[in-house]
Amino acid sequence: MSSVFDDLVGQEHIIDILKGAVAASRTGSESQEMTHAWVFTGPPGSGRSSAAVAFAQALVCPNQGCGACNECQSTASGGHPDVEIIRTDGLSIKVEEIRELLTRVAWAPSMGGWRVVVMEDADRLTESAANALLKAIEEPGTRTVWLLCAPTLHDVLPTIRSRCRHLQLRTPSIDAVTQLLINRDKISPAMADFAARVSQGHIGRARYIATNESARSHRELIMQLPLQLGSLAAALQAAQTLVDIATEGATKASEDRDEKEIERLQEAYGKGATGRGMATGAAKVVKELEKEQKSRATRMVRDSIDGALLDLTTFYRDVMMVQCGNSESVINADMREQIDKYADFLPPASIINKINATMAARQVLALNAAPLVTCEALMCQLARK
Ligand SMILES: [Zn+2]
Repeated sequence: MSSVFDDLVGQEHIIDILKGAVAASRTGSESQEMTHAWVFTGPPGSGRSSAAVAFAQALVCPNQGCGACNECQSTASGGHPDVEIIRTDGLSIKVEEIRELLTRVAWAPSMGGWRVVVMEDADRLTESAANALLKAIEEPGTRTVWLLCAPTLHDVLPTIRSRCRHLQLRTPSIDAVTQLLINRDKISPAMADFAARVSQGHIGRARYIATNESARSHRELIMQLPLQLGSLAAALQAAQTLVDIATEGATKASEDRDEKEIERLQEAYGKGATGRGMATGAAKVVKELEKEQKSRATRMVRDSIDGALLDLTTFYRDVMMVQCGNSESVINADMREQIDKYADFLPPASIINKINATMAARQVLALNAAPLVTCEALMCQLARK
């Protein structure tokens, strides 16, 4: 029989724990296996939120997570009355949002089992939001199960994480991701292999690359940049190109979403209504939404630049692999000729410096450094022999 846990590739070590918890949860009370607060951590793309959602499905499903019943499907689509999936598009989760959430989940579960909250970005809780959440997690006898997701345990407030059971996900292997894309998303084997390789075990990104032609052509342009660093002027141009491509990809995605959101909001407030109170109310909420959208757009551009820098690193990584005689594990097989050429003339120490410089650029960008200047400095470093 198929199960919601089937798609958690490379995570066999936690699936048994989750299944045990689901079986124990049927008694409706706490036990050693089943507890009411969990933290899922793992590298980006390892599927920590998919694991949490699968667990939520299994908790509310009469068949312990069949994936086919109404409970399982409405949980996945966000429509189950006892399951809340909190996805954050903004830079942080604020205390008001947590207070609102706590009021919503204060009711007993409608189906009599558990009420489940999946928080996909628990690392974005502000300190006051985390403290409000802590109070709820501490409450004894609650029927609510909290499933928090974060990159690492350090991203969760110590007081919260000490009350949670911790599950650490692994980066799935390239083969596991390839198989998932073929079986789940019906992607051709050649494309699945390419996408799994270039996204280095990041499931969401692999799927995006495999199904999105413009993402593939953007990536191709980025991967040409290391080959175009012949002069200072060229290096500066490469930085501009990188920022432009990353911004374009992110902006297009967020504009489509922004427009739909504003429209929906205006409809909810009665678009074209003339009542004075209604108009002022709507204007205020639209303004708030626009502010939220702006912070999300900033984050998407930053994420997109970060992704481009990670892609760039794979080129130098491949050069290093060829130098070590480990050429089977080259990620960018389509650039093999150029990789061999660079492996011939770049000293190994210089490649390590370039990889370190790229990682350092990612770090300062994460601290809100100006993207273009950071990329210019990086490209100048990459241009050096
Ligand atoms: Zn089910």
